[in-house]
Amino acid sequence: MRLVVQVLPGRCDWSQETADVLRFQGTTCPGDTRASPLKILKKKEAVSVILWRCTVCGFIHDGENPPEKCPKCGAPAEKFEKLPEEKASLVERSRYSNLLHARLLVLANEMTALAEKGIQDNLDPGCLDVFKKAKAATHIIGQMVKAEIQSHMNKGKWG
Ligand SMILES: [Zn+2]
Repeated sequence: MRLVVQVLPGRCDWSQETADVLRFQGTTCPGDTRASPLKILKKKEAVSVILWRCTVCGFIHDGENPPEKCPKCGAPAEKFEKLPEEKASLVERSRYSNLLHARLLVLANEMTALAEKGIQDNLDPGCLDVFKKAKAATHIIGQMVKAEIQSHMNKGKWG
C-alpha cells in the first residue's frame, strides 16, 4: 500500500485519513491540528514495492526497473539487484519510523544547542542546573536514536 496525496493550494478541508497521509509525507497545513502522524503507522501493513539496490554503493532505487546509472556512484543498471519482496516490504515498512528517528535526532541536536546557550547565559544556579540536565538528557536521546538506527540497518530495515 502506498498512498500519495497532493496538496491543493489554499485547501485545508481534507478528510482525517488524508490529513494522516499528508503528515506521513511530511506535508503540513497551518491550523490543521488533527490526529498525529503515528496513526498512519497502524494503517500501514504489508506493502508491495519494488526496490533495487546498487551492489557497488548500497543506494536503494524505487521503481519497476533499475535506473540507467546509480545517482550516487554512477554504476550501470546491471550493477543493481532487485530486493526480494520480503526485504523490500521491510524497508518500506521501516521508512516512516526511520524518518521519525531522524527527526528526533535533529530535535535532540537543536535542544542540545539550546541548552548550551542556556549554560552560557548562566543566569542563576537553578537555571544552570536545568540546562546542564537538559544537555545530558538530549545527548542520551541522540545516542539511543543512533543505536536504534544502527540496529535497523543491521536488520535490513533501512533503504
Ligand atoms: Zn551506487
